[in-house]
Amino acid sequence: MAKADQIHPVRGTQDIFGEEQERFAHVVSVFDRVRRLYGFKGVQMPVIEPTAVFARSLGETTDVVSKEMYSFEDRGGDSITLRPEFTAGIARAFISNGWQQHVPLKLAAHGPLFRYERPQKGRYRQFHQIDAEIIGAGEPQADVELLAMADQLLHELGIADGVTLQLNTLGDGDSREAWRAALVQHFEQHRGELSEDSQERLEKNPLRILDSKDPRDRPIADAAPDIDAYLTDDAKRFFEGVCSGLDAAGVAWARNSRLVRGLDYYRHTAFEFVTDRLGAQGTVLAGGRYDGLVENLGGPSTPAVGWAAGIERLAMLLGGVSIPTIDVVIIPADDTAYETTLNVMSKLRKAGISADMAYSGNLKKRLKKADSQNAYAAVIIGEREVKQQSYTIKLLREGGQLDVPDNELGVLLTGLRQAAWEADKGASIGMELVNRLKLLSNK
Ligand code: ATP
Ligand code: MG
Repeated sequence: MAKADQIHPVRGTQDIFGEEQERFAHVVSVFDRVRRLYGFKGVQMPVIEPTAVFARSLGETTDVVSKEMYSFEDRGGDSITLRPEFTAGIARAFISNGWQQHVPLKLAAHGPLFRYERPQKGRYRQFHQIDAEIIGAGEPQADVELLAMADQLLHELGIADGVTLQLNTLGDGDSREAWRAALVQHFEQHRGELSEDSQERLEKNPLRILDSKDPRDRPIADAAPDIDAYLTDDAKRFFEGVCSGLDAAGVAWARNSRLVRGLDYYRHTAFEFVTDRLGAQGTVLAGGRYDGLVENLGGPSTPAVGWAAGIERLAMLLGGVSIPTIDVVIIPADDTAYETTLNVMSKLRKAGISADMAYSGNLKKRLKKADSQNAYAAVIIGEREVKQQSYTIKLLREGGQLDVPDNELGVLLTGLRQAAWEADKGASIGMELVNRLKLLSNK
């Protein structure tokens, strides 16, 4: 195709393939396992929602709503938005479906999200999150449960080293209002020294100045009052319940009194798991309590707490992931062997052994392909093998070859099917096959 005609991907999107895809899939599969251990039910959510779902819940002045949403009018004239996060949609679903009858409801979701941001390493316009929510639980135990799950997930992904759980409280409504007033008073005294962005935040969203990265803001933000002096007794008791619960559950944490969240709906607990390995993109998992959100969207008053984590960022932190390989390559030596080859391949796959056929090029080329797949064995099937109903099996990793009659292979595979079920789902049982083949040939 001529260059001018070439179709390009949308800026900030990625085509995920190969090792990257394996990393991505690994994050999702570990999440799926761990969330079951904690009794979270999976949920599938629409990618499109009415724009109001996000505009009303995230807060008009937040980055996401004011400049990052993909919104459009559909053919029927309704304003639709590609979801920029999960929580608001899940709260909408809670109301639409009357899920109140199931509370406390523990939900887990994952999938693509869309934000119109400046793309850079670890920041995309279509990205993906795993997400966990506990809806209808107002006790600190729910926060602890949710954080314990996140902590176990990061450990099981093998990326907990260098990651710290930073914890803060934003208090209840009263605490937050009193703290906000004190912050405004403090920042007003230094208005002239603040960055332009923070001067604007002072009008709309003064809490956000606390986590500004601008060096002009830092000394002023660091000198700002903590929320502690403004916490009501209830808010204080709640936060103490979360802290002592985390200690009891063995989850390490550190207080960060500057931590605030980017969205307006948070109350009480706010937290981020932060790594020292990704520079400015260091937050790998974040969330908090959002007791007012369901009510804001027109539902019953419902306490809730949740978190989300970017799959791409978690995947970047993973060590080596195993790339699934083919256990056995079947090689038809000539055209007469084709049907037998298909038959053997089908038997192998039904026994839980991954198998692929090398059918292009001459025999030498086919053998080379088997080698390049890093398979355990190659089964070569030619005219002689078809006639004698017996196959030549080359052990590719350890060398040597065996002759195995078709009926014996059948029995062996039946036994192996059991082993495949018992083995971890998706794990290769190629080595087990090789061991059994060797036993067979020693008889
Ligand atoms: P940031 O301050 O990095 O913009 P945020 O507060 O907007 O983060 P959240 O809405 O809390 O992020 O989303 C939770 C997680 O989702 C982030 O910690 C990050 O891992 C991931 N994430 C957010 N935006 C993007 C993006 N544009 N591309 C990739 N991952 C993202
Ligand atoms: Mg953001």
